[in-house]
Amino acid sequence: MHMLQYPELKNKSILLVDKTQKNTNDRTWCFWEKETGLFESILHHRWNKLNFHSSSLDKEMSIAPYQYKMIRGIDFYEHCFREIAKHSNVDVIFDDVQSIDNINDKALVQLKDQTITCDLLFNSILFEPIKKEKGKFLLLQHFKGSVIKTSQSAFDPSTATLMDFRTSQQHGATFFYVMPTSATEALVEYTLFTPALLKQEEYDTALQQYIQEQLNITGYKVLHEEFGIIPMTNARFKKRNGSIINIGTAGGQVKASSGYAFKFIQKQSQQIAASLAKEEEIRLSSSKKFHYYDSVFLNVLSNHPQKGAEIFSKIFANNLPETIFRFLDNESTLSDDLKIITPLTSTAFIKAGIQEIL
Ligand SMILES: Cc1cc2nc3c(=O)[nH]c(=O)nc-3n(C[C@H](O)[C@H](O)[C@H](O)COP(=O)(O)OP(=O)(O)OC[C@H]3O[C@@H](n4cnc5c(N)ncnc54)[C@H](O)[C@@H]3O)c2cc1C
Repeated sequence: MHMLQYPELKNKSILLVDKTQKNTNDRTWCFWEKETGLFESILHHRWNKLNFHSSSLDKEMSIAPYQYKMIRGIDFYEHCFREIAKHSNVDVIFDDVQSIDNINDKALVQLKDQTITCDLLFNSILFEPIKKEKGKFLLLQHFKGSVIKTSQSAFDPSTATLMDFRTSQQHGATFFYVMPTSATEALVEYTLFTPALLKQEEYDTALQQYIQEQLNITGYKVLHEEFGIIPMTNARFKKRNGSIINIGTAGGQVKASSGYAFKFIQKQSQQIAASLAKEEEIRLSSSKKFHYYDSVFLNVLSNHPQKGAEIFSKIFANNLPETIFRFLDNESTLSDDLKIITPLTSTAFIKAGIQEIL
């Protein structure tokens, strides 16, 4: 999609290979953004205000100049395929990629019955599951979401709940998102940052309990469900191997301390497309400063799983949303960093900070 924005690239032959047709609503993306994005026309909803709740903090925040935006997976896939169909230089093959490799200065893609050769391969397949590396941290951000329809007006569609920690923290950092798209419809998501998954029925019980006891909703039906696992790790991802460039989750574009990935993936894809258009070398560097912050954060959350609610409460109590968003977007200045870090100073953070330097 980003390559299609550049007239300079219209003579490049692009082949998209995916084993699935992408014709189901398999995920919902939410992210904050200041500017008008590439996918503005397919936003399902947007919010100008966000709530944060924990046992120590209830805060409603206006998030200007940002907006919190939602895109449904199915709308994204349909939109992309519609755009692709307008470009005769793009082909699509639905097939299973068995392996990828380099030969001379080309990349090879092995499908079931054919081998494809290309000058550059952008790979978003994780051929191996992400494993915990020695000396690194790996937490799973796992979540179950239900789109619910209530029989009576129950939500304010102008305000979403970004985090509600008013639930048991026995497994580790655990919270709910509530993203209302009308007075009677919302995506409610139960999310945990822990090393292991729960049993499916535990997600369902937690969701039902929260909807009934915290949101005080009794009459509702579930319109749609989604389940996801996002790896949060400070292990380094191989970004490039010859003509193969890893992108998306496979290219390390998940923010290790938050699990947010959509905007990082878009930003990287936009930079790659711009470099291709200018015939410049593709830069895939990542910031050492933010890798360090992510490592310290994962260290604390892994060694003190019950501290998640307290840490996020301190961050939201002491900072403007725009400072927090810049920090989480890896775009913060040193002055922003100090505002976020200073209230968090504690033995756990100092120890983690020293360990990650060593
Ligand atoms: C349910 C869910 C909700 C999420 N919500 C958010 C959110 O709100 N905000 C956010 O920032 N991030 C979110 N994420 C994280 C992240 O943005 C998404 O996971 C995102 O889709 C990652 O993009 P990707 O390109 O790395 O992987 P994918 O989108 O998973 O794309 C990889 C593609 O590779 C294909 N593939 C895999 N193996 C093969 C093979 N062998 N041969 C051919 N094709 C293959 C798959 O079919 C898939 O289409 C969410 C993730 C999930 C799972």
